[in-house]
Amino acid sequence: MAPKIPKNPKKITPKKPIIRLPKDAQVKIIEITPRTFLYPILSVALIWALYTLYSQSGSETITYNDNIGVNEIRSNYQSGFYEEVIISGNQIQGRKQSISNIVWGKALTKRSIDRTTLPANVSITDIGLSNPANPTKVTIENNNLANAFWEFLPSLGLTLITIMGIIFLMSRMGGGGMGNPMQFIKSRAKMYDPELDEVVTFADVAGSDEEKADLEEVVDFLKNPAKYKDLGAKIPRGILMVGPPGTGKTLLARAVAGESGVPFFSISGSEFVEMFVGVGAARVRDLFREAREHAPSIIFIDEIDAIGKKRSPGIGGGHDEREQTLNQILTEMDGFDNETNVIIMAATNRADVLDSALLRPGRFDRKVTINLPTLEDRKKILEVHAKGKPFADDVRWDRIAAITIGFSGAELGNLLNESAILAGKKSAKSITQEMIQKSIEKVVMGNEKKSLRMTDHEKRLTALHEVGHAIVGKMLPHTDAVHKISILPRGGAGWVTWFLPEKDRTYTSKAKYLDELATLYGGRVAEEIFFGSEYITTGASSDIERATEIARAMVMRYGFDAELWAENYAPDYTEWQRKDMSNDTRKLIDEKVRGLLQDAYTLATRIITVNRVLHEQIADALLIVEEMTQEEFDVFFDGVAWVPAKIAM
Ligand code: ADP
Ligand code: MG
Ligand code: ZN
Repeated sequence: MAPKIPKNPKKITPKKPIIRLPKDAQVKIIEITPRTFLYPILSVALIWALYTLYSQSGSETITYNDNIGVNEIRSNYQSGFYEEVIISGNQIQGRKQSISNIVWGKALTKRSIDRTTLPANVSITDIGLSNPANPTKVTIENNNLANAFWEFLPSLGLTLITIMGIIFLMSRMGGGGMGNPMQFIKSRAKMYDPELDEVVTFADVAGSDEEKADLEEVVDFLKNPAKYKDLGAKIPRGILMVGPPGTGKTLLARAVAGESGVPFFSISGSEFVEMFVGVGAARVRDLFREAREHAPSIIFIDEIDAIGKKRSPGIGGGHDEREQTLNQILTEMDGFDNETNVIIMAATNRADVLDSALLRPGRFDRKVTINLPTLEDRKKILEVHAKGKPFADDVRWDRIAAITIGFSGAELGNLLNESAILAGKKSAKSITQEMIQKSIEKVVMGNEKKSLRMTDHEKRLTALHEVGHAIVGKMLPHTDAVHKISILPRGGAGWVTWFLPEKDRTYTSKAKYLDELATLYGGRVAEEIFFGSEYITTGASSDIERATEIARAMVMRYGFDAELWAENYAPDYTEWQRKDMSNDTRKLIDEKVRGLLQDAYTLATRIITVNRVLHEQIADALLIVEEMTQEEFDVFFDGVAWVPAKIAM
């Protein structure tokens, strides 16, 4: 490989060494506990204290001369040898003039002091240091010791404050690591006690029947753990709830706790991020210890993506705190045995960014996906939140449910609350249809989510686009089965039509990739066929991105092209192409990639053109139900003379 010539040398940053560990390598986590900081901090404090003391006397060096009597001091005084004479208690000091030298730019002062103790029978007045003509200053101090103390006090105070500050900081960080009485700071997790707090049950969660069914098992386990253990069943450990914000993830987790009557510890991932280094991990330890003490119990980690993002492969980096917190969670979860009746539930709206270590068996290996509510579910949620509010007779709930497509449960709750406020402002006795409709605008604007308000045209376009993917996928032999088609907007990236792999594949065939490319273009092709080439939208951008990625990999990495043959043209995942290729090769690659994409587009166009009537029928149905399962989708193909792809070609 030819050396890379940087275009702009300043922008080159040194590459961090990448250490690749085998997947199941035991990684020793070096924990940062308060103890780690103890010695460095204490030494700094000591040096600082000494320095403070030293700087109190300036850079003056004092030599004491004790081999001297009272008479000598008196005669020295009379001869004017002293700058000052200090009498304090029964001590008498004659301080000579100081001598300064400049050494390396600093004044070094030397002073010598004669001192002696007064004999018991001699009083101060007897010494004869009271010559008014003598310019020597004579100071009589009452208590030398006390005086020294007062002089010393400021620096002593500062030192004490510093030490106390350090102790305070350490105790704040103090988690299990200290293992001593300093461990008085508890995890900030909020605990809901089923006996004290308002209990949420599944009845409070409207709709979401599938999700509730998924969680039913967890409730049963928490209620009767013995039943499962006797059968040797593995206990569910971590449940990841994935869904857009406000869809009731927290509500469902609390309902699981409420249904099973166990304590519920809740903490948010974003809280960990703001902590000092080492605090997050200590918090996690405390949280798990507390949950174990209250077992059976539930730990709920909200916004787990804040700490559980994919870890950077390099060492160091700026996310040490996050990684330590994440590592601590993993360590705690791995430490559970089958006797620990603690279930960890976590919520995120970005499952795609999570570190794969979190999703391994024994960790968050169960996933409950929560989608935006469908029409039917929106009606039920509106019903829940309508309770206790007076509505006028003109309110048409069907209509409201229909136009609130894309609203989450939280937004529906918010909507009815806003309309009640509006009614209050107008001093109306009841909430009218008009008030609710006005509030819809308010909720939409407040959320700055344009997708919330879908026009009828957008809905139809989305339905035809999604059915486009599904129909092309259905007609081609090497694609995965359709799992769900939905016109509800989804948070984060990804297509709305999901294809489920039928079985785990280790290798992917060229045929499968070819079919997948056509499936990806199904959406854009449908837009073009049903609306015309001038009305195609940006809705296909992520489909196009994924298709291009696949086609490039097919040509450049997988050796799927006969002419370019089985040679690697993109050796590094960070560089999408080799730098040492000839211009001809480069051109050929571009042609081949475009060829694959064009063929896929043509294939999708044929399939959709031929099945146009069926396509529209399914899209019309989808507009009504908003979400369609595989079974519901397949019904359209029963007894219908649909045209398989081979014939369409
Ligand atoms: P998430 O955790 O997914 O962001 P929450 O559980 O915090 O959402 O939901 C916020 C609020 O929205 C709930 O307290 C509830 O009032 C309302 N809500 C959401 N989903 C539902 C639902 N399915 N049924 C009833 N209310 C819901
Ligand atoms: Mg929540
Ligand atoms: Zn699409």
